[in-house]
Amino acid sequence: MTGFKTLDDFNPAGKRVLLRVDLNVPMDNGRVTDTTRIVRVLPTITELSDKGGKVVLLAHFGRPKGKVVPAMTLAPVAETVSKLLGKPVAFGEDCIGEKAAAAVSAMNDGDVLLLENTRFHEGEEKNDPDFARALAEIGDIYVNDAFSAAHRAHASTEGLAHLIPAYAGRAMQAELVALEKGLGNPARPVIAIVGGAKVSTKIDLLEHLIEKVDAVVIGGGMANTFLFAQGYNIGNSLCEKALADTAQRIMTKAEGKNCAIILPVDAVVAWHFEANAPHRTYGVDAIPEDGMILDAGQQSFERIRSAIEDAATLVWNGPLGAFEMKPFDESTMNTARFAATLTRAGNLVSVAGGGDTVAALNQAGIADDFTYVSTAGGAFLEWMEGKELPGVAALSKT
Ligand code: AMP
Repeated sequence: MTGFKTLDDFNPAGKRVLLRVDLNVPMDNGRVTDTTRIVRVLPTITELSDKGGKVVLLAHFGRPKGKVVPAMTLAPVAETVSKLLGKPVAFGEDCIGEKAAAAVSAMNDGDVLLLENTRFHEGEEKNDPDFARALAEIGDIYVNDAFSAAHRAHASTEGLAHLIPAYAGRAMQAELVALEKGLGNPARPVIAIVGGAKVSTKIDLLEHLIEKVDAVVIGGGMANTFLFAQGYNIGNSLCEKALADTAQRIMTKAEGKNCAIILPVDAVVAWHFEANAPHRTYGVDAIPEDGMILDAGQQSFERIRSAIEDAATLVWNGPLGAFEMKPFDESTMNTARFAATLTRAGNLVSVAGGGDTVAALNQAGIADDFTYVSTAGGAFLEWMEGKELPGVAALSKT
């Protein structure tokens, strides 16, 4: 990323601003059940509207696959945005063509309009130049505030940015600044925590991190594959034995890069995969044949704790155990609280993201204490993997 323009760099007064937002919110019976994504983009909408722009919201909802699917209309979302914004939000029944043009031309300066689901058109996901041009026809300026959709090169997230002047919205700006602090240009030493169920979904992530960071804590179910690769008996634990060679290769490569790999030294073992199942802690060299590792043990946590204490920056994706079930949440909760304490004291920059990680930090009650918590699932992971996000690249100044 070489830099990007923001709302500070243009005057939206009297202009038709096409603002790409993420309104792919959870709905139940036509009602929005979680407004987090809407709340995130309110500052950008308000700022553009207060400055006299005509704010035209573009968004996708669900996977209608290029067809009009009435159940996936954004109409009910317009009402929720209006309530949260505290001003009317008009709704346009199409995002291109005559209906869109008519809805936009009816706007006064400062008005807000939400257009129908961009994915009702095939051209959206195909990043079809004709569809992008049709979008560009109804706007003067493009603002992207949907980081969570930035890993996809779609017409409204990427193509459009090349057709009219393009800027990052405030939520996108905050996300990019935080991510830059996490891995782009971080204070060193940097420690990464990678947890979760499977190695198979995190190979690219590990490969990239060992190039970039000073230490990687490997936790959760995926640590079992690494322990297995080192010759430990991991009993009945979740393990991708076919990936033992991959795990070994990653450990060897990390050594060559001077990146420490921190694996569990003890583990909380149960015999049933359920909350409050009877459990005991064992060293990793003594895991019972019929037992399942469900969390890292206390000694492992102490090692993680001192590794975080030595770091200036922490990036985190994936829980250290089966945190949805008590008491197997303990190492994840303890790690979250410890990182939050160091962050509050100004001794750590902490950036975390991914669905389960956000849930775990919320469970620990400390999400607000982290420097930044990204709710963007796929885009956050691709960023952590070092991949270029097309929606961000299209905003970058060269
Ligand atoms: P992921 O989607 O790969 O980030 O994995 C998150 C899931 O991994 C969570 O639902 C955790 O409960 C699960 N998990 C973490 N540690 C373990 C473990 N030791 N055994 C089984 N599942 C685990």
